[in-house]
Amino acid sequence: MRLSRYFLPILKENPREAEIVSHRLMLRAGMLRQQGAGSFSWLPMGKKVLDKVCAIIREEQDRAGAQEILMPTIQSAELWRESGRYDDYGKEMLRIQDRHERDMLYGPTNEEMVTDIFRSYVRSYKDLPLNLYHIQWKFRDEVRPRFGVMRSREFLMKDAYSFDLAYEGARAAYNRMFVSYLRTFERVGMKSIPMRADTGPIGGDLSHEFIILAETGESAVFCHRDFLDMKVPGADVDYADDAGIARIVKDWTTPYAATEEMHDDKAWDAVADGDKVAARGIEVGHIFHFGEKYSKPMGAKVTGPDGKEHFVSMGSYGIGPSRLVAAIIEASHDENGIIWPEAVAPFDMALINMKAGDAECDRACDELYAALSAAGCDVLYDDTDQRPGGKFATADLIGLPWQIIVGPRGVAAGEAEIKNRKTGERETIPLSAVAARFG
Ligand code: ATP
Ligand code: MG
Ligand code: MG
Ligand code: MG
Repeated sequence: MRLSRYFLPILKENPREAEIVSHRLMLRAGMLRQQGAGSFSWLPMGKKVLDKVCAIIREEQDRAGAQEILMPTIQSAELWRESGRYDDYGKEMLRIQDRHERDMLYGPTNEEMVTDIFRSYVRSYKDLPLNLYHIQWKFRDEVRPRFGVMRSREFLMKDAYSFDLAYEGARAAYNRMFVSYLRTFERVGMKSIPMRADTGPIGGDLSHEFIILAETGESAVFCHRDFLDMKVPGADVDYADDAGIARIVKDWTTPYAATEEMHDDKAWDAVADGDKVAARGIEVGHIFHFGEKYSKPMGAKVTGPDGKEHFVSMGSYGIGPSRLVAAIIEASHDENGIIWPEAVAPFDMALINMKAGDAECDRACDELYAALSAAGCDVLYDDTDQRPGGKFATADLIGLPWQIIVGPRGVAAGEAEIKNRKTGERETIPLSAVAARFG
């Protein structure tokens, strides 16, 4: 992509409304446009990152055996009356009426709707286990939308729902999602810590929040230092092996870790002082086992091997991809801007033409752009007529992992300079070696 053609509305000034660094950087780097309280448009570069995050989430959901669907954003109040949550959910739910004065709502979550899908089709335990997920916009009328997409009113959520014959299977489904969350957050470049958590309006009795530590996090969290260097299972993890998956979950739930609501002073006292991490954290994912909470009132049941009918045992599993993008920036930036982990970077590299309009520089850059693209790299080519200082500032701000810098002196010597955004390390290599280096 040529920067001269790219819709990247960079802001020179720090937006005053942005209280935390991720919000500030997302606005400055032209990723977002605020449309109203807690409501944002994702501009091209923001959308690209969001898509990359979603692609990783999808891969890890699919790998763990979940199947993607897509449910509507607007739901009928009837379903929510069946579960009893229509009245319980409170003011966070946006209630709407259609032209026939039927009560509708903009979904804050989808337990009821997916349970309705399930009960319409599935009759036998032989069709279990089943896990259905979607990635869809949610609306919650937050009391205090703030911090940009970190706590917005309309936000993207990946929500998965598992159905099993009984607790044992449901626990195995929970464990698979637990492991897939560890892998998902690691793949987007983040260290997440699963913590015992409160279940809130979703309900249930077993629940973990996946927390990324950050000073600006809204939750107070407490965990053992061991979590900071625990090894996440690889891509070859065997989701068909319930016992193996359960062992991984056991390892990851043995050291102390709890959010404020579930914090247990006695257990905390037992942790050696030097091992205590009391910090702030961002909730990027949350998993719940809630058994028959929805299947019973909504009549979602299957025939078991015993020939009898059983209400299915369920769980639900959420990740906020839009919040996750902000959380990645909270965890990975410096005073000059964003530092994208490679897996979610909107482009692989910035190709910086220091003297656009100079025939030799243009030719060398055009050739590099073609060669890098042919080698499979996604390049943002700064072909604008800005001065070099401005170009470097933009490249640092938008945080692509690599900068390839081409100026008149380098071209004369047949060389380009390569800068690593994260380490700041610079290296000079022959122009002819650049494509091979990254291809
Ligand atoms: P919070 O405690 O931050 O209000 P929650 O516990 O209400 O979140 P869940 O119902 O557990 O949220 O939803 C699953 C995931 O959706 C959360 O872990 C988070 O990543 C994301 N999420 C929830 N609310 C928001 C929001 N207002 N803006 C952006 N993402 C959100
Ligand atoms: Mg909430
Ligand atoms: Mg919460
Ligand atoms: Mg939660």
